[in-house]
Formats: sequence, C-alpha cells, structure tokens
Amino acid sequence: MQIFEQLEQRRDWSEEERILLDTVRKVTDQAIAPRAGHFDRTGDFPWENVAALNELGLNAIFVPEAYGGAPLSFRAYLACVQMISEACASTGIIYATNYHAMKPLIDFGTDEQKQRLLPRILAGGLGSLVITEAMAGSDATGMQTKFTPDGDDVVIDGSKLFITNGGVADLLLVFGKWSEIDDPKGSISTIFVEKDSPGLSVTKVEDKMGHRASNTAALTFAGCRVKRANMLCEPGDGLGLLLASLNRSRPSVAAHALGIATAAFKDMIAYMNEREQSGHKIIDFQGNQFLVADLAVDLAMCEAWLDYVAHLVDRGAKSFGLEASMAKMRASDLAMRIATEAVQMHGGYGYIKDLRVERLMRDAKITQIWEGTNQVHRQLIGRSFRNK
Ligand SMILES: Cc1cc2nc3c(=O)[nH]c(=O)nc-3n(C[C@H](O)[C@H](O)[C@H](O)COP(=O)(O)OP(=O)(O)OC[C@H]3O[C@@H](n4cnc5c(N)ncnc54)[C@H](O)[C@@H]3O)c2cc1C
Repeated sequence: MQIFEQLEQRRDWSEEERILLDTVRKVTDQAIAPRAGHFDRTGDFPWENVAALNELGLNAIFVPEAYGGAPLSFRAYLACVQMISEACASTGIIYATNYHAMKPLIDFGTDEQKQRLLPRILAGGLGSLVITEAMAGSDATGMQTKFTPDGDDVVIDGSKLFITNGGVADLLLVFGKWSEIDDPKGSISTIFVEKDSPGLSVTKVEDKMGHRASNTAALTFAGCRVKRANMLCEPGDGLGLLLASLNRSRPSVAAHALGIATAAFKDMIAYMNEREQSGHKIIDFQGNQFLVADLAVDLAMCEAWLDYVAHLVDRGAKSFGLEASMAKMRASDLAMRIATEAVQMHGGYGYIKDLRVERLMRDAKITQIWEGTNQVHRQLIGRSFRNK
C-alpha cells in the first residue's frame, strides 16, 4: 500500500482538516467498519453509525457558519465520504445523501428557510433527495408528481420510488410539476417536505442486493399539504436546481464508489500476500501482478481526478458538470471492477459471505446505476464532442 500512503501524506490538508480526517479514520476503523457485516446481514438501519458521525459534527462541515455550521472544503467532505464508505458503504451513502439534499437549500434557499431548516440537519437529522418515479428514472423530466397551489399551501400528489433515506428522513427535498405551468420541463418545481407531514406515507422499503443497511423507500404523497414557504426558488425553477444539485452529488457518489474500491483493493492485496498455491504467494504470479498494477494505477488516477474536480468546486468554478460526470462514471466502473477482481483473487473464499469482498461486490453494483446510469454519463460525455 506504500504508494497510496505516500499519496495520502502528500495531500495538502489544512491543520483543521487533517485533525478531522484523522478522527474520522479512527471512528470508521474502530466503530463503523466492525459493524458493517452485521448491518449487511440484518438489514437494520445503522442508527449507531449515524450517531457516531453526528458526534463528530460531520453534517456541520457543509453548512455555512452563519447557520451554525463549521464548514470545511468540498475536498475534505469528499474525503470523509470516501473513508466512511470504505468502512460501510450503506453508512457512506446515508451521510452523503444528507449533503445531496441540503446543498440545494444552502445554495438557493432564502435566509429564512436556511435559519428554519438547517438546524435540524445540524442536530443530526437526515435528508433525502426525492426525484425518481416509476416512469421517470434516467429521464427525470418525465416525473408526474403534481404540486397544486392552494392559498398559502402547496398540495402534493404522486408517488416516488427508490428514495435513499426516504423512510427515515427528517427533511425531504421533493421534485414535482407545478399544476399551473403547462410545460413538461418548465413546470418542474422543488419543495421541502417535513417528516410526518399528513398525506406523506412510506409504502415500501426495498429489499436490495447491496447497501442492505441503507433505507431505500417508495413514497406516496396523497393530498400532502405543505406550506408554500417551503418552496425552493420559484415554480418552474426545478430543472435548474436538479441539474445544479446533480453536479454536486456526482463527485460525492464518486467518492463513495472509491471508498468501496479502496476497501476491495486493500482486502485483495492483503490476501494475495498471504495465500500460497504451488509454493508461491498469489501475488508472485506475474499475471496477477499485471492485474494489481492496472487496478492500482486506475485507482490512483481516479483519486487524482476527483481531487481535481474538488479543487474546481472549492475554487468556485461555475461549470464542472462534465468533469463531475467523468468522475462518477470512472469511479463507479472501477469500484465494480476492483470488487469483482478482489472476489476472483480470493478464489472460492471470495464467494463466501464470511469475507468482506463478497459484500463489497454487491455494494459496488449500484454505484454504476444511481445518480445517472453510466450509460447516461457516457452519452453526456460523448455528445459534448458533437459540433454544435
Ligand atoms: C438503491 C437505490 C437508491 C436510489 N436512491 C435514489 C434517491 O435517493 N433519490 C432518487 O431520486 N432516486 C434514487 N434512485 C433511483 C436511481 O437514480 C435510478 O434507478 C436511476 O436513475 C435509473 O433509473 P431507472 O431505475 O428507472 O432505470 P431506467 O432509466 O429505466 O434505465 C434502464 C436501462 O436503460 C438505460 N438507459 C436509459 N436511458 C438511456 C439513455 N438515454 N441512453 C442509454 N441508455 C439508457 C439505463 O442505463 C439502464 O441500463 C436510487 C435507486 C436505487 C436502486
């Protein structure tokens, strides 16, 4: 692991960031990682892990000081996501989803909304980003959830599915269409729905291949009445908000995928240095060394690219959507590839649930599907080269 340790040591963290990251590492190694297998087996929601992250104040690192936060760089946030996901991918995505749901509020909400809503997240509440519907997946603009204005209220009708934290969130950022705008894309609007709002119900919690401890829920809004004061921006501003929020969440899911990739790489190397066949360690076979070299180089390149994207964001770049797509696509493909090869290098033992690599391979798969499937990202990146 020498080269990865060297790369980590050379990253220029501020003193404050270094202290936080060291503490997060301690908690992920000592508390979160040892519980990951248990939560995977039981499918229980990892409240203990959420509490441990809250004790570290990790929601505060993306909330501005004016609203009670203790903000650090986007790079430091991504490093936290990666470390947590290396220890437990379910806990990693639960934490990252808080950021995905709250960042649009931080960037586009009014002062009143931020004063009112952000303290809940700082106090340990969970957020949820609610976009997908049965007939609107990759093409989110096909959503049918309806927002109807009624005096000081907005009435929400519709159904959503596959919503991370959906059944446990305190604040849900919901996308739907404004009934009074007759334009399929121009009507998309956004509103915060608070937990226990009448008319909001959790209709199903999914039984999944991986990320078994994260909560993935189907939600129904039946005449769900919400104060208009919870609208984020104006009716019809939702598509811009959606694209802006995806630009921020894609580097975040890339960091999550790299956490899984790192865990699989570490387990693979440890086993290859220990297991012997035909009088040699598995790592001594040249074909396997070539494999390790290819994976290590891709992992290092991918981390460097994500760091570059994070720097762009921290320097205030306005346009980084393609760079974020590239990071998401490559990191998630790599997570799947490394996890699969890690199982392969463990031989039959890799297929048995006693070892972590079996879980990592199941956890890796969804990273290629959510936040835009990798087919969609390939299309986005590829079509950017078409002459206008
Ligand atoms: C565990 C989990 C957690 C999730 N969390 C959330 C969440 O928190 N919030 C939320 O809103 N959603 C969430 N999702 C939904 C997720 O983002 C969608 O599943 C994803 O966007 C794909 O949509 P779909 O499942 O409808 O697949 P479809 O869009 O139906 O895609 C089916 C296949 O067609 C391909 N395809 C579709 N369009 C194109 C195209 N233009 N070009 C080439 N191929 C294409 C896809 O790549 C895919 O292979 C989650 C899903 C899961 C499984």
